[in-house]
Amino acid sequence: MADPDTLARWDLEHVWHPFTQASEWEADGPPLIIDRAEGMYLIDVHGRRYIDGISSLWTNVHGHRHPGIDQGIRDQIERVAHSTLLGLAGTPSIVLARRLAKLLERIDGAEPALTRTFYSDSGSTAVEVALKMAFQWQQQSGNTKRVRFAALDHAYHGDTIGSVSVGGIDLFHEIYRPMLFDAVRIPCPDQPDPDEEARMLEVARQRFAAHGDTLAALVVEPLVQGAAGMRMHSPSFLRELLDIARAHGVLVIVDEVATGFGRTGTLFAMEQVGTRPDIMCIAKGLSGGALPLAATVVSDRIYDAFRAPYTEYKTLFHGHTYTGNALACAAAIANLDALEEDDVMSGLPARIQALQDALEALPGEHIAQIRRHGLMTGIVVQHDHPPQARHCHKICMAARERGVIVRPLGDVVVIMPPLAMPPALITEVVQVVGQAIAAT
Ligand SMILES: *Cc1c(COP(=O)(O)O)cnc(C)c1O
Repeated sequence: MADPDTLARWDLEHVWHPFTQASEWEADGPPLIIDRAEGMYLIDVHGRRYIDGISSLWTNVHGHRHPGIDQGIRDQIERVAHSTLLGLAGTPSIVLARRLAKLLERIDGAEPALTRTFYSDSGSTAVEVALKMAFQWQQQSGNTKRVRFAALDHAYHGDTIGSVSVGGIDLFHEIYRPMLFDAVRIPCPDQPDPDEEARMLEVARQRFAAHGDTLAALVVEPLVQGAAGMRMHSPSFLRELLDIARAHGVLVIVDEVATGFGRTGTLFAMEQVGTRPDIMCIAKGLSGGALPLAATVVSDRIYDAFRAPYTEYKTLFHGHTYTGNALACAAAIANLDALEEDDVMSGLPARIQALQDALEALPGEHIAQIRRHGLMTGIVVQHDHPPQARHCHKICMAARERGVIVRPLGDVVVIMPPLAMPPALITEVVQVVGQAIAAT
């Protein structure tokens, strides 16, 4: 293996980093290069240890190198790493789909249960697939005028063109506008607030009254809009919004890519809403953070409209090469086993309480707002530096010097510990972020 300095040079010469301005990446000096990990710690090429305060971009559930997940991957690699789901089935993808159907029974509601899984590789593709399914379902159900989508302001559903089209973050999405289809926008709050939510639901009613009969589906991030900087709404707001959509014959797609796998305090955010979506997207935490894997899970009501003689061409003509990858599915099965065996969910309230206590103990100076639901946390920083000062980036760098990895989203510092992070470490993450804010 090359030495650390050579690796740093090669990174600057050959790697294009996502969501990263090259000139700043270069100006920031040698990158922090992660070489390995242990539990809640990432370890760099110099052997320095950092607490993983954002679950390696919201994916990690149990900490790194969980023995069960690593063993699940090892066992699978002794059998087969990958075979296709086009024309063939595979053991781990069957078992995982069955497990997901059972798991999703936790989401209560009068609507049909989520029973059928379509696999892909990322949150973006999970949403892309959901949009195409919803569109085609409407077409094949005789609703040929339903060709558009509704989505929330500030939404983030991924980076492919369909998922960007339903996204609502101008900074990320504006440049692509000419490539995108337009969507009907619904306002939503940054914090649950009954009065504001009532006003916004009134706007939603008007939008659906005006456009409802042209809409195929509404897509939402339930309870927490993550990439928007942890904007939050109440379960009752969401419930009401979904009821409005349904009353207009509009399908409901929920994007639990970020909220899934315990981040909001329940295994899925929709457990707090009391209604079942027609289509649900999961990704980030699905494999426990080990391998790329996503799922678009639907009810029979959706799947049945795609069942017909071949020459009616009602097939879903979509599929990715690595769909249902055996290693990734094995990691996901091991993740679900670990959630049960380690009893992760029953310890969650204590960890959420530790997070809340630590947040409350932060000095209020330089903090405009703290948004938290479950373990998903955004600290809105108050400052009057211009954007080019990259104030929150500097705060995150100061946290890094103190041994904690966090990332900013605009003026928000995000904290999202792995589900299994011990309370004392959660407290340390928050305290270090507090020191970094004070010192920057
Ligand atoms: C991260 C995210 C996505 C995109 O997932 P990728 O795996 O990065 O493509 C989609 N929706 C939500 C809510 C997300 O947080």
